[in-house]
Amino acid sequence: MRSSEFFQNFNVVTILLTGGQFVNLMLKRYYLFMTHNSERIADLLVHLARRSVQSSASELTSAQWAALRFFAHANRFSRQPSVFASYHGTTRGTASQTVKTLVNMGYLERSRGLSDGRSAVFDVTQSGMKALDSDPLRSLVQTLDQLSQDKREALCDVLLTINKQSEESEMGLEDTHFGTCSNCKHFRQSGPNSGYCSQSSTALDIFETDKLCCRFSSV
Ligand code: SF4
Repeated sequence: MRSSEFFQNFNVVTILLTGGQFVNLMLKRYYLFMTHNSERIADLLVHLARRSVQSSASELTSAQWAALRFFAHANRFSRQPSVFASYHGTTRGTASQTVKTLVNMGYLERSRGLSDGRSAVFDVTQSGMKALDSDPLRSLVQTLDQLSQDKREALCDVLLTINKQSEESEMGLEDTHFGTCSNCKHFRQSGPNSGYCSQSSTALDIFETDKLCCRFSSV
């Protein structure tokens, strides 16, 4: 190879390498941009949620799991099919059908309900609690358990902020908001193991205060 050809080839290789590095750099930047892009984050949240509730081996559908989970986590004011419909973004008819199926399976039972006696309230049975041991969401719970306390708290704060902003943007469209006593303006601590709900004029045991509530109003 003549020296002029060598230098020509050398320049092409240099340009290709430099070009490759440039493209790599741009891809890296694009990837970083995409990673922190809001659309990408929203997509990731939906993807994680969908993947976490899918289980081909499960006897329950994802809607039935969602209902069972909801009734296990909701407080006494919220364990009603209509409230689940609102929480899950489905119709009352569909929610009632889901609840009926879970009752027939022995996972939910109708309880005496609220003091007004007008609303049907459902509790999770022992069998329902046992079924929740196989909840497909548990794998995500275990993944979250592996995060440090700091990261879990930071993630929880971010998700609560997103939830609050999303609720505020839906003001007037959605009249039911969900949350727990610790962030609710109606909550008063009345003792080391008890609280008071000014919305329902009811004394609360400590175990009730971290349950999901449909009467929640953000502080
Ligand atoms: S204090 Fe708020 S979150 Fe707690 S039970 Fe009352 S309304 Fe529900």
